Formats: sequence, structure tokens, C-alpha cells
Amino acid sequence: MGKDGMGSYTVGLDIGGTKILGALLDPAGEVVATVRRPTVHGADGLVTGAAEAVRDVVASGGVEVGVLAGVGLGIPGIVDHRSGTVRHAVNLGVHDDELPLAELLSEQLGGVPVVVENDLNVAAVGAAHVLERTAEPDGPGGDGDAGAHEDLAFLALGTGLASGLVLDGELRRGASGAAGEIGHIPVDPLGPECPCGQRGCLERFASGKALEAAWPARHGRPAPVELFEAARAGDQEAIEVRDRFADAVASAVRLLVLTTDVRHVVLGGGVAQLGAELLDVVQDALREQAKVSAFLGSLRLADRVRLAPTHVPVAAVGAAVLGRRG
Ligand SMILES: [Zn+2]
Repeated sequence: MGKDGMGSYTVGLDIGGTKILGALLDPAGEVVATVRRPTVHGADGLVTGAAEAVRDVVASGGVEVGVLAGVGLGIPGIVDHRSGTVRHAVNLGVHDDELPLAELLSEQLGGVPVVVENDLNVAAVGAAHVLERTAEPDGPGGDGDAGAHEDLAFLALGTGLASGLVLDGELRRGASGAAGEIGHIPVDPLGPECPCGQRGCLERFASGKALEAAWPARHGRPAPVELFEAARAGDQEAIEVRDRFADAVASAVRLLVLTTDVRHVVLGGGVAQLGAELLDVVQDALREQAKVSAFLGSLRLADRVRLAPTHVPVAAVGAAVLGRRG
């Protein structure tokens, strides 16, 4: 790795299927400006749109592209962080076998170094960065010691289920980039088939898609919102579906802690927009599961879970942190 970029500004972009979120970090690592733009699909649009987002956020922060030590990008799909290439990012309209995104964007930005990472990894790095800076000395699991949050799993409850891991302050990608793909760990040999080819994968129980299948939206709002509302109103079936879902998410948390012993498991992704209501039922499920096992109880799983910060675009911040290390 080259220079660590300390003492310089960096920009991070979280590039999704519909929008680009950007953040400018100052030399102290504070978020000084953010930007939001629609994603332009296709290889050319992606590169040009990313360059414009960088210029926008830099201008909002009152600096110039020339002062940047680096730019980091978070992309959904298969990325090669070493070469800065993206493959088959279908929901960004990139069908090329291999798009040298880092190189193309760097050219448009006058040679500023660009790194590319997958979206879950940047979210994990961003959550670690933000939580560390907002450490509550008396918060759950927090001892007030610096760096305590640099050991966490970001559990994305989106359409699917997957996690990003920061262990001992370092992103854990794994030998083939599959570290944290816990959605495809089979938990029920007789369970439903999964598109991955296996049966009874955890994702079939603990994901936005699983929740929608169990409780389809009836009133045009997101299925998780309707389910939790019905459960709150006392609908017995909704309560059961909600609690089964919470149980499955709790199993994902338990799996992450038992394999990595991370201090924090941060709930993110679309379903986590439910906020405190989701956190409550997941923590309840973890406490319930721990009742039968003194061993599980001693791990204080419920205390390790928290919601992803919402006051900043966490994935964009993570991309900017990685941009420093480029
Ligand atoms: Zn699967």
C-alpha cells in the first residue's frame, strides 16, 4: 500500500442502481460535504457521472479536485480492488467483461488515484469509521477505548443477506472476495431452494425478499413497514411472521459473532430503515436464544447489535476512507 493519505482530503462515492451518494472527508476524517445524484447507466455514463459527483462534492466543500489524495468507489457487483476493474455490474448497466473503472475515472480527474471496492465492504469500513468517531463511553459494548469499533460486521438486510467484515481495523475480503457471504450458509436442509443452487440458505429466511414472500405488501408501502405496523396493531399472523424474521436475523448475528467474535454487528440495508423497531425485536430474539445457553449468554449478543448510522452516507464515507489508503 502507498501513502496513507493522512493530512489530505478524499472523496468516496457509493454508486447504486438509482443514485450516487458522495462524501468529502477532510484531513481529520470528518465529513465536510455530501452529494446525491442520479446514476447514469452504462460504462460511459458511469464514469462521467462519477467524475461529476466528485467535482460537485469537492466544490461544496470549498476545495479543488487537485487537493485530493484519492477517491474511493463502492460498487454493487464483482470488483477487483487490485486492478480497479468492475465486471458485470448489471444494475449499473455495465455489461462489459471488464471495465477499468478506476483507471478511466482517474484520467477524468487529472490523475487522482482511484480505488474500487464492493458496496458491502465500503459500508463496513464506513460504519467502523463513523462509530469510532461517535463512540459513546457508556454505550452498548463500548468501553470508551479508542478503536473499539474497528472490529465489526456490517449486516446488510437488503433484497438479499450478506455482510462486510472489518477485523482488527482491516477489511477482510477473503481469498476470493467471498468473506461475509453468510446469506448462502444453509441453515435448513429441508428448506426452500435458493437461486444459488443450495437448499435452505439463511437468506431465504433473513432478507427483504424473504420478508416480502412471507408478508406481501398490501397497501403500496414497503413490505417490512406494513408487516411491523400490522404486528404493532396486534395482528397475530403478523406478529408470528415478524418474530420468525427477527429470529432469522438473530441467527445471522449469532453466526457472525461465533465465527469472528466481532464487537459490533451493525444492521444496515433497506430493511434496517425500520430503525429502532427492528433493533428491538432482533435484540429480544437474541436474548431469548441465549436463555437456553449460558455460553451464548456470556457472549452478550444483544448488546453487540446496533443500527447503521443514518446521519451520514455510511458507504460513501467508507469509500472515502479507502480512498485514503489507495
Ligand atoms: Zn443460497
